[in-house]
Amino acid sequence: MRSIAEALTSMLPAFSPLGEEEVHLTKASGRYVSRNVMARFDAPPFDNSAMDGYAVRAADVASAGPDSPVRLPVRGESRAGGPLPEPLESGTACRIFTGAPMPSRADAIVIQEDTERDGDEVVIRESSREGVYVRAQGSDVPSGTLLLRAGDRLWPGEIGLLASQNIDRVHVFRRPRVAILSTGDELRQLGDELEPGTIINSNVYVLSEMLRALGAIPLALPAARDTLSDIEASLRTALEADVVITTGGVSVGEYDFVNAAFENVGIEPMFWKVRMKPGKPTAFALYRGKPVIGVPGNPISAMVAFEVLIAPCLRKMLGDPQPHPEPVVARLRDSYRRHPGRVEIARAVATREGDEIIVALHRLQGSGSLPSFVGVNALVILPADKGELAAGEKVEAILWGPGLKGASSIFDQIG
Ligand code: AMP
Ligand code: MG
Repeated sequence: MRSIAEALTSMLPAFSPLGEEEVHLTKASGRYVSRNVMARFDAPPFDNSAMDGYAVRAADVASAGPDSPVRLPVRGESRAGGPLPEPLESGTACRIFTGAPMPSRADAIVIQEDTERDGDEVVIRESSREGVYVRAQGSDVPSGTLLLRAGDRLWPGEIGLLASQNIDRVHVFRRPRVAILSTGDELRQLGDELEPGTIINSNVYVLSEMLRALGAIPLALPAARDTLSDIEASLRTALEADVVITTGGVSVGEYDFVNAAFENVGIEPMFWKVRMKPGKPTAFALYRGKPVIGVPGNPISAMVAFEVLIAPCLRKMLGDPQPHPEPVVARLRDSYRRHPGRVEIARAVATREGDEIIVALHRLQGSGSLPSFVGVNALVILPADKGELAAGEKVEAILWGPGLKGASSIFDQIG
């Protein structure tokens, strides 16, 4: 049986980025750019004032101080979005507001707080130096600078940067379309009447959301019945997508037909079973190079197999150059006993205590217990060889879902 690392090593090569497309910036959030993006022009695009006050020549106010004020006649005004100011004559000041263009030949700002207005004159009670409170043209980003590298993801800040550069279209990697094929005679859709013995196909809703969160496009197919022919027919439809994920029917039961259906459709098995808990009977196969992953039907197994094995592969396909999660080091709040042999991915609530992250394992660790995922913000990685884990022991954890909460010192005073 393969380790998680071995499983990923055989899966990852099948998940290459799908090529690029050009999208409008307002549709680009969460996407990965497929080309380097350069600055089209200087930012700021013109010298402007960082404060409300007066634009001056530093030399004219060099001697100003609280006890030795300098008086300058005020000539003109510059406001953000207003008409461009006239060049500044020496020995004068120009009223100016934040974001407004500097008059040419002015080289410093005196902030309003250091001045008093006296009719047509301004009394300046503080000296200034060249460049003070001036946001110089190109001081943030000179034209032609590299703004984003291929593979960077577009978060709101990146969107803002491109918008400020008037870049309205951006090249991004295509989003993989991922078919979700659930199998099981017992499965019903949301809102269906639940006859005895049937359950809602919760996996399809969970996996759709996990796919969307990554940036992939979920294609939910109707659940297939537990027959070879139904699964085969559904697989043929599913194979129109870029990636196929099946759930259920991949164990050793007599109604577990997924592996057999793969073979019948010409999907070549690569491996079956990974040394992890939950999620062991995960299958990986290829159809003409197209990845097909079969995860177990148990909801927790399906989620964990997705997070540990499928998500890194899809991130790579989405264009992420660093697709692997970065676990944090945490300490177990309580001791834990388990059967050694497989890496166990346990659901936990992580909190910060001082400098440390403490993880409290959920009391439900069964692979079918959906409540064990509620409120969970960490997946704790328990090493394969360890049966006894002591309270306070260091473990690795992947932060998940809502992430870490808890006060930082800057919020201490909030009631
Ligand atoms: P299987 O992997 O098909 O043997 O299913 C294992 C367990 O997961 C059984 O209790 C199934 O009823 C349940 N199960 C299978 N598929 C789903 C699904 N799509 N949503 C929720 N539970 C499922
Ligand atoms: Mg089943």
